[in-house]
Amino acid sequence: MADSFGFAEARKRMVEQQLVRRGIKDERVLQAMCEVPRHRFVPPNMWAMAYQDHPLPIGLGQTISQPYIVAYMTEQLELEPHDRVLEIGTGSGYQAAILSRLARRVYTIERLPELSERARLVLEELGYDNIEFRVGDGSQGWPEEAPFDAIIVTAAAPEPPPPLIKQLADGAHLVIPIGPTGYQDLMRITRHGPHLRTEYLTPVAFVPLIGLHGYAEPDENS
Ligand code: SAH
Repeated sequence: MADSFGFAEARKRMVEQQLVRRGIKDERVLQAMCEVPRHRFVPPNMWAMAYQDHPLPIGLGQTISQPYIVAYMTEQLELEPHDRVLEIGTGSGYQAAILSRLARRVYTIERLPELSERARLVLEELGYDNIEFRVGDGSQGWPEEAPFDAIIVTAAAPEPPPPLIKQLADGAHLVIPIGPTGYQDLMRITRHGPHLRTEYLTPVAFVPLIGLHGYAEPDENS
């Protein structure tokens, strides 16, 4: 589907006003945010709002993050073109699309099959063909493909999941929101051989990571 002039303009404005002005500097990240048609990752009735400065609902109680947060988390991964990156929480597929422009290969895990399938269709349509999808509990990582040069978790965990730490390559960053529903600390954990460095980045608000090393599944009857 053609990307009309209006959307390309909206993206340019988004990059200038929401990203550059707030300090996103990595040229490759800015370029990817300028290129990827964010509106395609939200329902058609929300296309007009796709480039606004806030998160949007994508169905099944999940959200696509605010553009600034996507850019900021991506910048913190310090991706290089040959990198293999793991994403937990495919959601709409937008973050995976951005990662796919900056890394060699993206591995993305989503627990809700319907979201994974929808994301796969959009990403295929856009011709982003360096992304592998898996449906399951991403809190356990993707051991068969480890180690990864970067790991990004786009749902909030109580603690950094040990399998994800284990699956970090030497020098790789794990970027992850840590904390309860409603408010979390975005953390960056970097492996240096056997040692880990932990940095606090910024406050964020994500939906919960649900799984073995995340929160318990919400009770359907409550
Ligand atoms: N990165 C997404 C936004 C993700 S919202 C985007 O760009 O649109 C968080 C997603 O994490 C939701 O889709 C939710 O279903 C998923 N999720 C929650 N717990 C998970 C788990 N244990 N493994 C994989 N995905 C999980």
